[in-house]
Amino acid sequence: MKVIRAKSAGFCWGVERAINIARDFANKGRHPVYTDGPLIHNSQMMEKLQAEGVREVGDYQSRSDLTIDKEKEENAVLVVRAHGISPERRNYLKSIGIDFKDATCPDVGIVAGKIKLHARKGFHTVIFGDERHPEVIGLLGYTDGRGHVIKSTEDIDALPELGDQVLMVSQTTMFTDEFHRLGNHLLKRFPQAQIIDTICGATKDRQGDIAVLMEEGVEAFVVIGGHHSANTRKLALLAQRTGKPTYHIETAKEIDPEEMAQYRTVGVTAGASTPEFLISVVCEQLAAIHSVGETASA
Ligand code: SF4
Repeated sequence: MKVIRAKSAGFCWGVERAINIARDFANKGRHPVYTDGPLIHNSQMMEKLQAEGVREVGDYQSRSDLTIDKEKEENAVLVVRAHGISPERRNYLKSIGIDFKDATCPDVGIVAGKIKLHARKGFHTVIFGDERHPEVIGLLGYTDGRGHVIKSTEDIDALPELGDQVLMVSQTTMFTDEFHRLGNHLLKRFPQAQIIDTICGATKDRQGDIAVLMEEGVEAFVVIGGHHSANTRKLALLAQRTGKPTYHIETAKEIDPEEMAQYRTVGVTAGASTPEFLISVVCEQLAAIHSVGETASA
């Protein structure tokens, strides 16, 4: 079987950066390296990191108080994830009294900066995203209490009257076409609104690569990443929208060779939190499958 791997498959630079920051501390003998919530939404990678001394505390949304005995943790360090946090959470984490390292992705930092700047001038901020996602929870903290999260045209219609000063941004991992569609809808209600596309470059590349794989003639997609990973699920949805059969798998164990044998060319992509070791095993196993009608020496 021919396997075409998307150039963008796997860690985005922001996630890779946060992992490297945590790993560097662990390699330099700083133990434990705490992270405020899971550093990455992939259980296989989390197990690896745990073995290296990186320990998750807190919760996925970075809301709960951390129980760290700082008396016994002189050598510890606390790392903030790529998703970022609210200013309030930052103050809380700093108040714990152990070394603190902010590994927020600079692309998320740019969105936070734009919100902060507008909030200071009195703007309301409308964020296109998932209100339960830690990135959105963090960004809301910069809105000076004037933040609104939307996901649909109905959500926009249900917004209260916000006046002329309205800023619309996006969670960095949303669909570009939906952002523009919702931005246009928002402008109907708030014609003076400022719409800033803050979907990050890594997300756009990943979404664009689905179209590239289609041009290369793939007959099906395999999307690798945690079943609970929001960005992987979105990617699988985008692949599905092409009309091609799409298989969202977490590891190579979920490949059904008989099912896959019906395709001669398969496109492989992966979410921003999928490690390389999982992607390469999937590609190898798919490449070893003989498509129906393909000779063993083909
Ligand atoms: S998805 Fe984009 S914004 Fe989020 S961590 Fe990766 S590069 Fe940064």
